[in-house]
Amino acid sequence: MSTTSQGNQYINGAYRVGSGPTAERINPATGVVDSVIDYAGTGDVEDAVAAAAAAFTTWSRLTPGARSDFLLAFATELASRAGQLAALETAQTGKSTRMSTEFDVPGTIDNINFFAGAARNLQGQASGDYAGNSTSMIRREAIGVIGSIAPWNYPLQMAAWKILPAIAAGNTIVLKPSELTPATSLIFAEAATAAGIPDGVINIVTGSGREVGETLVRHPQVAMSSFTGSTAVGRRIMEMAAETGKRVHLELGGKAPLVVFADADVEAAAHGAVAGSTINAGQDCTAATRAYVHSSLFGKFTARVAELMDAMVVGDPTDPDTDMGSLISLAHRDKVASMVERARQSGANVLAGGLAPQLPGAFYRPTLITGAAQDSEIVQDEIFGPVLVALPFETDEQGIDLANDTPYGLAASAWTGNVNLAMRAAAQIQAGCVWINEHIPIVSEMPHGGYKASGFGKDMSSYSFEEYTNVKHVLISHDTDVHKAWQDTVFKQR
Ligand code: NAD
Repeated sequence: MSTTSQGNQYINGAYRVGSGPTAERINPATGVVDSVIDYAGTGDVEDAVAAAAAAFTTWSRLTPGARSDFLLAFATELASRAGQLAALETAQTGKSTRMSTEFDVPGTIDNINFFAGAARNLQGQASGDYAGNSTSMIRREAIGVIGSIAPWNYPLQMAAWKILPAIAAGNTIVLKPSELTPATSLIFAEAATAAGIPDGVINIVTGSGREVGETLVRHPQVAMSSFTGSTAVGRRIMEMAAETGKRVHLELGGKAPLVVFADADVEAAAHGAVAGSTINAGQDCTAATRAYVHSSLFGKFTARVAELMDAMVVGDPTDPDTDMGSLISLAHRDKVASMVERARQSGANVLAGGLAPQLPGAFYRPTLITGAAQDSEIVQDEIFGPVLVALPFETDEQGIDLANDTPYGLAASAWTGNVNLAMRAAAQIQAGCVWINEHIPIVSEMPHGGYKASGFGKDMSSYSFEEYTNVKHVLISHDTDVHKAWQDTVFKQR
């Protein structure tokens, strides 16, 4: 599945072979080694940062309209590679071709088109004569070279979410994709060059977090570290960024609740729970992982979810009939399986799934668990697999309290036909997104980001410009007096 014989680094508009170690890439759905990839060495990271720094002056001084034109051309170029990108995304992650084709690739193109428009609407908020004989205005300015680090679950979309707001605002970037999934980020950067985006604006270095990731975060010329990944690594990024006092943007783990109130449409909630917990084989930071269901609906809800999960087709991701492909690796599949096993041994019931089918790849069946304790590992910790835990509640307040009872706060859903209750849930659930009678839909126009241990900062939407720009106050005096009145406070006019 090697993307190119010219290497797995993309620096200053060209591929190169990294000077770091090499590693075998295993297709997770087949268990077969499909390529050997080179990792970046320290010199490659240095060169990538230098290329981004060199490109910054010209790129940041372009008019928003000019940057927008480049992004529109980029979207068109990427769309012409949709088939190649979808096939590579499935080969490197094991996700179904349906997901790659209908979600990952179009979502990425839409994101580029959104930021092509948003670039032209980036503006300062204030203009006024706040200090008497002077006018204040706000300039929003690009920060510099952004060092970004992305996870493996949606490699292409995560590259877009990190790169687009940064470059639309005039920054340049060095992105390190996950070492498990570098292929589509490389094609992404190559397509940017083909669309005319100047060399050095987007650079990709690949390799492990410990070596390449840490070198990038610590680099003194990197003005900001933007990261999507686990909460544990996010904390480490923050520590390292403190060494040079740089800005951080952290999109971290999740443990999204789905709260089904007593008046909910139980059939719709069951469908939402199955789609929400098995999307991308559950390897989605906003996936539904904890279903809190009013006790009057609990039996009906769990029976229907188990029935729907049992009917899901798990297997070859390239087969159009497959609902769910493989997980990212055998090691990750085993981690998911062992969490389910520990829950079972602590007395929980496995109503659906709970097993890996007899296939050579990293497959695991959609799984429904009941009877777990609220403070148990399976309810509190991120599993990042197709596992939903259902627990009953009695009062509306209890449902909301349980939803808030984990360290995470990325996303949540509430299911009810009662508008008062829906609004109360939206206000009281501590998460960056609350869906009502839905779970999962994301749109480029709306922000994505966490509360609590799920991090801070927003991806997508114009809110992401808050992350990738500096706000500058410019004050222009129109007082023609040599000695201004306020200066009397410091020294009297003589
Ligand atoms: P991870 O934290 O293990 O790795 C993410 C990235 O960080 C990878 O590129 C990895 O190489 C790099 N990395 C690892 N250690 C590093 C270090 N010491 N210094 C610098 N970089 C380092 O996460 P993952 O397993 O790739 O992805 C799954 C996690 O990502 C889950 O926790 C999931 O919830 C989270 N995620 C969050 C969002 C969001 O928007 N909040 C989106 C997708 C995934």
